[in-house]
Amino acid sequence: MSEDRQKPVVLVTGGAQGIGLGITRHLLLNGWRVALLDLDEEALLALDDEPHGDARLAIAADVSREAEVAAAVQRVLDQWGRLDAVINNAGIANPVSGPLAKLELDHWQRWLDVNLTGAMLVCKHSIDALRRRRGAIVNIASTRALQSEPDCEAYAASKGGLVAFTHALAVSLGGDVRVNAISPGWIAVDDFKKPAQRRPLALRPEDHEQHPAGRVGRPHDIAALCAFLIGPEAGFITGQNLVVDGGMTRKMIYRD
Ligand code: NAD
Repeated sequence: MSEDRQKPVVLVTGGAQGIGLGITRHLLLNGWRVALLDLDEEALLALDDEPHGDARLAIAADVSREAEVAAAVQRVLDQWGRLDAVINNAGIANPVSGPLAKLELDHWQRWLDVNLTGAMLVCKHSIDALRRRRGAIVNIASTRALQSEPDCEAYAASKGGLVAFTHALAVSLGGDVRVNAISPGWIAVDDFKKPAQRRPLALRPEDHEQHPAGRVGRPHDIAALCAFLIGPEAGFITGQNLVVDGGMTRKMIYRD
């Protein structure tokens, strides 16, 4: 058996940009074969400039479309014959849906379809393969599952649903597959976008200073925890929602 065939396989959704790209790069560097699934074909094509050998497989698919998800998982299995982990990261990352009285039903539905139903579909079609490997799932939720700004009902509901889905599935798959969520706070990703949208970070001192950790988050902060949660050292952790937000949800804010 070649050295590559012994490497574990992970499927990362929304892996072509932002936090997902950070996860993809980190797991490739740490001995994983990474199948990344993304809706944005331009972003997928831009990855060809990054060296990866045979350890990366890019698949164009929409996580909210069941036939596309089923075909994507099958493609991973056809290519590599195994699936050890899934990271459900794809999402409509913009949290603002506007005043509820004006929210169109199809807009509400799209947030739920991508952020919540998408993760369910990827899990549904991966479970058999993950069971065979005693694998792991990580769902990328948000601190907005726990706290809010105005006019973010659709996003908050989708992420709250994802946290609940996580513990429900962890119990259903207990003994076979571990399932956890990560809830990121503010993660700066402008420099992890496809070339046409890539921008240098423009963060102000106060953006960093308001965080108890002293800085805004970066994709690597989430990627490093993903690697831990899908790795062998996390065997006693399942059904959890781990908040990675530089301490923001632990900070009291009172006006003078
Ligand atoms: P991003 O927009 O930079 O990247 C998201 C990626 O997902 C893109 O490549 C996009 O093409 C892909 N995608 C979107 N819809 C898809 C679909 N239907 N099917 C397949 N791929 C799809 O966003 P990000 O900031 O990196 O966020 C990634 C995840 O982290 C999201 O679930 C988001 O809600 C969550 N999150 C982000 C932050 C943050 O501050 N950046 C904070 C909390 C949670």
